[in-house]
Amino acid sequence: MSKKVLVLGETREGALRNVTFEAIAAAKKISGGGEVVGVLIGDSVADFGAELVNYGADRVITVEHPHLKSYTSDGYGQAFMAVIDQENPEGIVFGHTAVGKDLSPKIASKLQSGLISDVTNIEGEGDDAVFVRPIYSGKAFEKVKSKEGLTFITVRPNNITPLAKEERSGDISSLSVDITNLRTIIKDVVRKSAEGVDLSEAKVIVAGGRGVKSTEGFEPLQELANLLGGAVGASRGACDADYCDYSLQIGQTGKVVTPDLYIAAGISGAIQHLAGMSNSKVIVAINKDPEANIFKVADYGIVGDLFEVIPMLTEEFKKV
Ligand code: FAD
Repeated sequence: MSKKVLVLGETREGALRNVTFEAIAAAKKISGGGEVVGVLIGDSVADFGAELVNYGADRVITVEHPHLKSYTSDGYGQAFMAVIDQENPEGIVFGHTAVGKDLSPKIASKLQSGLISDVTNIEGEGDDAVFVRPIYSGKAFEKVKSKEGLTFITVRPNNITPLAKEERSGDISSLSVDITNLRTIIKDVVRKSAEGVDLSEAKVIVAGGRGVKSTEGFEPLQELANLLGGAVGASRGACDADYCDYSLQIGQTGKVVTPDLYIAAGISGAIQHLAGMSNSKVIVAINKDPEANIFKVADYGIVGDLFEVIPMLTEEFKKV
């Protein structure tokens, strides 16, 4: 049976997040030839509609309201529920992002539906779709099927290949929703000066651990990350030692990442760190200790001093 599937579009700093395009590709599979409807929520989001269509949404619904400028679960919840009431979908796809992780259980509980979270792959389509998701902190994968009724999933960033962007046509309409009784209204957002690439969507991550030894020790990692168009991450050891901000922490209690290339420098490879990065496509570990646990998950291991190896890598990449 073909299905109508809603996809929540997410923006960050004035642009659609990549995970939105990945969610559209996932929704196409779930729809089994049905209709994929992009949903944009915010105070001024209509301009993003055409891009959703170009990435494969058959149509787009926007819900705009001054109270939706910043995400709140109340505000977005009301807006998304209004779209559900109008569209009566058979499927919903969110990114497995801070917003998706917060909003999806709220919507699922309102709809009394199941929720398959953190999906990394989809096998088959339509009613035959099987969802692959990591369990036990990434040590195993399970395959899950949705029961009859609504199929509701969140997709982990960087795992599902988006459709190629091309000129497509699709209707973009707006839905007027009265956003009321908000328990939280965000007056202002003061950002830490986060530079460059978003860690959770980065294709290349250069991560440092306690072996980096200081804040200044992260500079060569940042240089290499910049050169490769990537982002810098860290172990909790490095964050606890105050070498860097906790927003960079990768692992069980930090961010879960799946870049194409993960370079771990001066990280021992504790199980809690591996939980956040072991599904990266290619892992390069640099460590002085040949017995370090990180080498067990690495595709390429370099036994050596990171302060010699990282500058050498940077110089070599500059030649490419
Ligand atoms: P260390 O274990 O001290 O390792 C440093 C490594 O650097 C060593 O292997 C050493 O050989 C190497 N080294 C030193 N100098 C150099 C050099 N010059 N060149 C090359 N190598 C060098 N950790 C996380 O990372 N993420 C989490 O989300 C997380 N969550 C946790 C949750 C709980 C409940 C608990 C209990 C722990 C959690 N931890 C987490 C902490 C985790 O157990 C480890 O303590 C931490 O990952 C260690 O960080 P590290 O590898 O940087 O430091």
